[in-house]
Amino acid sequence: MKTLPRKSTSHLKTIVKGEVMSPGDAGYDDARRVWNAMIDRRPALIVRCAETEDVQHAVAFARDHGVELSIRGGGHNIAGNAVCDDGVLIDLSKLRAVRVETERKRALVQPGATLNDVDRATQAHGLATPTGINSTTGIAGLTLGGGFGWLTRKFGLTVDHLVSAEMVTADGARLSVSEGENADLYWAIRGGGGNFGVVTRFEFGLQPVGPDVLAGLMVFPFHQAREVLRAYRTFVMSASEDINVWVVLRQAPPLPFLPADVHGKPILALAVFCSGDPSTGQRLIEPMHRFGTLHGEHVGVQPYLGWQQAFDPLLTPGARNYWKSHNFIDLDDGALDAIIDFAGRLPAPQCEIFLGLIAGAANRVAPAATAYAHRLTRFVLNVHARWDHPADDRRCIAWAREFFKASAPYASPGAYVNFMTADEGDRIAAAYGSNYPRLVEIKRKYDPDNLFRMNQNIAP
Ligand SMILES: Cc1cc2nc3c(=O)[nH]c(=O)nc-3n(C[C@H](O)[C@H](O)[C@H](O)COP(=O)(O)OP(=O)(O)OC[C@H]3O[C@@H](n4cnc5c(N)ncnc54)[C@H](O)[C@@H]3O)c2cc1C
Repeated sequence: MKTLPRKSTSHLKTIVKGEVMSPGDAGYDDARRVWNAMIDRRPALIVRCAETEDVQHAVAFARDHGVELSIRGGGHNIAGNAVCDDGVLIDLSKLRAVRVETERKRALVQPGATLNDVDRATQAHGLATPTGINSTTGIAGLTLGGGFGWLTRKFGLTVDHLVSAEMVTADGARLSVSEGENADLYWAIRGGGGNFGVVTRFEFGLQPVGPDVLAGLMVFPFHQAREVLRAYRTFVMSASEDINVWVVLRQAPPLPFLPADVHGKPILALAVFCSGDPSTGQRLIEPMHRFGTLHGEHVGVQPYLGWQQAFDPLLTPGARNYWKSHNFIDLDDGALDAIIDFAGRLPAPQCEIFLGLIAGAANRVAPAATAYAHRLTRFVLNVHARWDHPADDRRCIAWAREFFKASAPYASPGAYVNFMTADEGDRIAAAYGSNYPRLVEIKRKYDPDNLFRMNQNIAP
């Protein structure tokens, strides 16, 4: 471990407007904690930034002292890249303001905002930008890797709505990036992760959404999973892009609309979302009632803001988590068989298999238009191994890895950088896909010494 000179640490404390915490300081342990309880790292300094100049000071300090640097937005990264050992953690969690410009349909977002911060501000005007399905996720990390959720079929990825950004690069410069300024960086941060600098402001385009939408769950018995998945596969291929349907296989939570004897039993849930007219939505989802014999259904008109938080209770921080993920262009029978096989032997009650549908607008953008390359992907499979006790680590991780292996023959090339764990270094080139060589070039230009390496790293 490199010891930081006390004099320069004291100087940093005098010039930073926010807080600078060291081990032992009040708040230090809370500040180094992230969503995934598997991550337990101890930075030498945590710089909780109050303004962009604080970011510049922290970047310069880490660079000049040759120590590790990590960036924390919402702290949800599964690999725990928000936190480093012994180096400097740039904590953006106090920079959460969102300003909406209704005339221009734009949102100016600080980098510590959560999805909920963005949704609350934009929904006050009946607007939204496509993001993810768990409201406590950070907008920063999600955006930089691509970003998808309920609105993606209709409107595309989060990066497809990123109009401009402001960032601090390794040399300490503060740059504006957009189609017209530093266009190479603007391209690179739309899928290239945190490899190029610290984004200190995002500007998103907004779409009219809600404020009410049709959404909810249709829950089928697990023993009907094969018929339901086959019917789902056929249905979504021709379904209107106004609706989105994701699949979750897990033990039934104690949902009030399910009979008590179903609680805790394996189920297949279809999470249904329609951002258009609710009565049209009801008509569009009607055929789904014939996919199998429902255990229960709770689909109705509700605020978009509420639906964006619907999965939060299942995805709370503090559990131990290990994920594996594949992209799919098509869902072969073999993929469905693997899903059913592994969902039938969940190693712990909180484990689940998620199948997200992103077919639609995201597929109509050229792979080279932004750094996010996998524009043919229609489904993203994510296996969430999730448990509470370290004694279960080995068993739960093994289950996720075996499932990943069993489903790999049916997957399409590539991976989603935002779902990758710390041990997937061998998938990095595939994750950036056909855009990898250009990303390496841009990395060489802006960060030749690889200061920003706590990420799915594009080595210069
Ligand atoms: C419960 C849960 C649900 C999720 N659901 C979805 C979903 O529906 N759709 C989806 O697309 N993804 C989803 N994700 C994945 C999510 O996109 C990633 O975990 C993402 O990294 C989270 O961003 P964050 O800011 O919270 O993470 P952090 O851990 O704070 O940051 C992750 C990384 O992003 C980079 N970074 C963060 N902030 C900045 C910045 N300002 N400038 C430069 N680099 C930065 C850094 O490299 C950092 O290590 C989900 C994750 C979780 C845990």
